[in-house]
Amino acid sequence: MSIKVLAEKVASQIAAGEVVERPASVVKELLENALDAGATSITIRVEQAGKRLIEVSDNGCGVPTEEMKLAVARHATSKLSSAEDLFHIRSLGFRGEALASIGSVSRMVLLSRTYESDLGGRLAVEAGQVGALEQAGLPVGTVVRVEDLFFNLPARLKFLKTDQTERNQISALVTRYALAYPAVRITLEQDGKTLLQTNGNGDRREVLAQLYGVDIARQMLEVSLEEDNASVTGFISPISLTRSNRREITFFINGRWVQDTALSSALLQAYHTLLMVGRYPLSALLIWLPPEDVDVNVHPAKAEVRFRQPNQVFSLVQRAVRRALLAYSPVPQVSSSYWRPLPGVQHIIDPAWEMSVETRQELSNAEVSMEAGEPSEAAEQAALPSGKIPLLRLVGQVGAAYLVAEGPDGLYLIDQHAAHERVLFERFIRQKPASIASQRLLEPRTVQLPPSAAHLLEKQLDLLKSLGIDIEEFGPNTFRVRAIPAIFGGNDPAAAVMAVVEEFEEDETPLKNEEESRIIARICKRVAVKAGKILSSEEQTALLRDLESCQSPRTCPHGRPTMIHLSVDLLERQFGRRGSR
Ligand code: ADP
Ligand code: MG
Repeated sequence: MSIKVLAEKVASQIAAGEVVERPASVVKELLENALDAGATSITIRVEQAGKRLIEVSDNGCGVPTEEMKLAVARHATSKLSSAEDLFHIRSLGFRGEALASIGSVSRMVLLSRTYESDLGGRLAVEAGQVGALEQAGLPVGTVVRVEDLFFNLPARLKFLKTDQTERNQISALVTRYALAYPAVRITLEQDGKTLLQTNGNGDRREVLAQLYGVDIARQMLEVSLEEDNASVTGFISPISLTRSNRREITFFINGRWVQDTALSSALLQAYHTLLMVGRYPLSALLIWLPPEDVDVNVHPAKAEVRFRQPNQVFSLVQRAVRRALLAYSPVPQVSSSYWRPLPGVQHIIDPAWEMSVETRQELSNAEVSMEAGEPSEAAEQAALPSGKIPLLRLVGQVGAAYLVAEGPDGLYLIDQHAAHERVLFERFIRQKPASIASQRLLEPRTVQLPPSAAHLLEKQLDLLKSLGIDIEEFGPNTFRVRAIPAIFGGNDPAAAVMAVVEEFEEDETPLKNEEESRIIARICKRVAVKAGKILSSEEQTALLRDLESCQSPRTCPHGRPTMIHLSVDLLERQFGRRGSR
């Protein structure tokens, strides 16, 4: 094929693809424009996950009618005039591409009026075709209405994720901007429902409370460090408040949300050794640097940045975070964090023991068919005869994490958390064919969730009810737990609910398609007694008895071992009383 210059229309669609990847990217560009226009109030309305409609209205400076056609032209911006300016960008936009790109892949209407003029203008763009400019009576500010996104690019439409995922992306984005711009009143409506509304009074902790609930907002630690001409402010979670993924780690650089893995690593290093493996903090950190120290022009959607001196930035973040963590000294208590390192225990369980052939074989009996990480029915059956454990005599607890017990055939070390998971799981499953007995809470517990999690939960209320969790909607992003499964008696209802929604990876289809047993396993994991909890001897004995009566006591519902067995035979050999010397 010979080389041809692409037709303008094709070229502009290719360029659009870089800026407008999905509905959330449209929301991002329009929101940034409104912020650049100095708006103090911004309303975002979305229908059908943004495929039907995305409308962003602001009370900012507006576009002069005579400039509206320019505003929707490619590479037309009011924010930059020379190449030199690229190194001192103070606005969120500067590429002059967004409106042109969005207009080329949707039916877009731009409505705008400036303070100086009595009338505003209306300009429609459909699949890149700019219509006639009309005068219109409007309030000061701008409305950009984007309908039928990708209607002219069916292939793009097909690549979008489920509506649920796209909606979550949008609310995650808007909530982050709400956190970064507490002085702007931001409202998000999806399908006629208000998901988020900040009051614009500038109090960031109030926004946090809106997003995560008052409980969490109160626990978050304030970060504030200023050095030379750079600063880090915002909030991080204390070590007791974590999530199972990095999704709640947020950074803003000079007012712009960026997703930078190196920055997250710097943050995680500041928490180093303070968090359990696989747990991540929540954070919303705003970093301000001299504009010339950041290159924002490396990515069409401006989601990545390059620092002139990355190491200085990382170290600034780390110092700020460390300082906030240290300044916060919790009430001393003999708790998980005190016991967690458990150096002694690691020595006791000498790897040589653990790895001895016998032990491994015994364990693998129960483990074989559990490679997928969850007990298939076949596995449960197969593990039955050999998997059962004999009656045990409790010796005690080690390191606030393990039970030591004696059986007729040697010593058992039992992981209390894994064991409790197994016990709860089997009780649950046993009750399941009928309805699960639930226990009314004397006082219904209110749980507030971030909008994206709330979406997930709304859809699953029936399913949860069948699992004995009676929960109802109780205002925007707020739910009221009225009853929890009786087998959880005494456990935190909020934890059980969080377990259901928290651990979804971004693109995972919500519960509906998930096996019920996996949901149950996950809930059990959350409510089971943690390593680090000192148990009374009655509690220890009860756990042992419960475990003995399980069908598959040797593994937790996720397939990890609940116990290590050291047979008398093995002990004798290890002590050189018998066999190999
Ligand atoms: P950029 O933001 O990179 O300049 P855009 O295509 O997003 O490019 O916008 C083009 C121009 O339209 C902006 O430079 C600005 O002058 C004007 N504009 C867009 N949205 C708004 C708005 N909400 N309020 C005022 N002016 C706007
Ligand atoms: Mg812009």
